[in-house]
Amino acid sequence: MTDSAPLDVDIALLGGGGAASLLLAALDRHGVRDLRIAVVDPVRRRGQDRTWAFWGHPGTDLDPLLSASWRQVEVATTARRRVLDLTPLRYAMLRSGPVYDRAAAAERRLDATRIVAPAETVTDDGTRVLVRTGGGPTVRAAWVLDSRPRPPARAGRTTWLQHFRGWWLAAERPVFDPARAVLMDFRTPQPPRGVSFGYVLPVSDRYALVEYTEFSPDLLTDAGYDAALAGYRDLLGLDPAGLRVREVENGVIPMTDAPFPARPSPRVVRLGTAGGATRPSTGFTFSAMYRQADQVARALAAGRAPVPQEAYPRRHRWMDAVALRALDRGGVGGPEFFDRLFDRNPAERVLRFLDGLTTPAEEVAIMNSTRLLPMIAATAGDVAHRVRDRLRPTRPAPAVPPPVVGDPLGSAPRRAGPPRGEDEVTAR
Ligand SMILES: Cc1cc2nc3c(=O)[nH]c(=O)nc-3n(C[C@H](O)[C@H](O)[C@H](O)COP(=O)(O)OP(=O)(O)OC[C@H]3O[C@@H](n4cnc5c(N)ncnc54)[C@H](O)[C@@H]3O)c2cc1C
Repeated sequence: MTDSAPLDVDIALLGGGGAASLLLAALDRHGVRDLRIAVVDPVRRRGQDRTWAFWGHPGTDLDPLLSASWRQVEVATTARRRVLDLTPLRYAMLRSGPVYDRAAAAERRLDATRIVAPAETVTDDGTRVLVRTGGGPTVRAAWVLDSRPRPPARAGRTTWLQHFRGWWLAAERPVFDPARAVLMDFRTPQPPRGVSFGYVLPVSDRYALVEYTEFSPDLLTDAGYDAALAGYRDLLGLDPAGLRVREVENGVIPMTDAPFPARPSPRVVRLGTAGGATRPSTGFTFSAMYRQADQVARALAAGRAPVPQEAYPRRHRWMDAVALRALDRGGVGGPEFFDRLFDRNPAERVLRFLDGLTTPAEEVAIMNSTRLLPMIAATAGDVAHRVRDRLRPTRPAPAVPPPVVGDPLGSAPRRAGPPRGEDEVTAR
């Protein structure tokens, strides 16, 4: 196909996962009908390959797709269990299946061209972008919206991962409280370097997603995740004899202050994790992806360039860099850090802060709730590290490793994940 004339489109979406699915739905919702759209992804996403948890105001177009939502959540440490009322926000659970289904329906209405092939090279001449695909047609687009997973542009000062395993547990008897989710339960044994917690997202009194999560530099083994998750199940007082694991969910999300350039060249815009939508201090991504999808769709519907606002304000990225450093260098303990945040601020303020939506005055209040000395030390360390980084050659960032996936046949753990787009965007 490479010798034939390129397929001319207005918008090429490279990657058809979370960010692209939300964008397709937003384009449909905003009544965009006159754009030529191509979606390039070697995989056609469908079914339940992940569960998104996020907070926000109720009453959006996502409401009919939610599996559950909660006004109250728990944050637990060894010292106390705190029940937080999130009103006017709510915490919500959205499984990927309905999101992908809605995107597929939108794609049909938008009359988009689906190319089931990897995007390989992306060349932006400032007026058009040429995308060569592996085995599919070449695409020439006015704009490229690129959400292919990729490492950051250079190594960060702190490089952590959020990595987790979850079990969808079906219980014989009512054992879960569907009125309340567990947001973070820090009673899990803490790793030597990093933070761990469990959480529970109940869909009913007999069905819930129970996860074990670590924020730390390295992944566990398959057996390590199973042991940690079984330990958390026991901590919850759940009897394994009365439970069945219906599904297993594994994931790895970057947590780093390394840069994810959102506009690598004039007509290429990066979205999703690749575009910096993952909040470095928490790994939460969904709300920023949703917000940016809406902004891009509104811009296109109004005939403007599809460039969203930054996922998070610069000052939030700086605060995250300092917090990550304090956690990584041992200045602050993770459970204590999050406990103080929720102890000294209304839950709704903390959650808006984590979405990058607070005012500077609210952020001063948030910062005042952390322990001052370790934060000052981390701020000074961050400044010194930035200066050192300026003086030495750029270090490449490690790629985010794929999750460790359990082997149902019981052989050695293997790693698996979606194909990764590691090629560079070049601007001419
Ligand atoms: C299991 C899991 C659970 C998560 N849960 C939450 C959560 O609860 N809350 C939250 O806020 N965030 C969560 N996240 C983080 C984040 O929201 C998701 O990772 C989200 O899917 C990111 O969307 P994305 O479009 O950036 O990447 P993806 O959804 O991974 O999509 C990237 C797409 O690019 C495609 N691709 C790869 N290579 C190429 C190529 N060469 N050419 C074209 N396409 C290519 C892939 O096939 C894939 O479809 C979770 C992540 C995982 C993995």
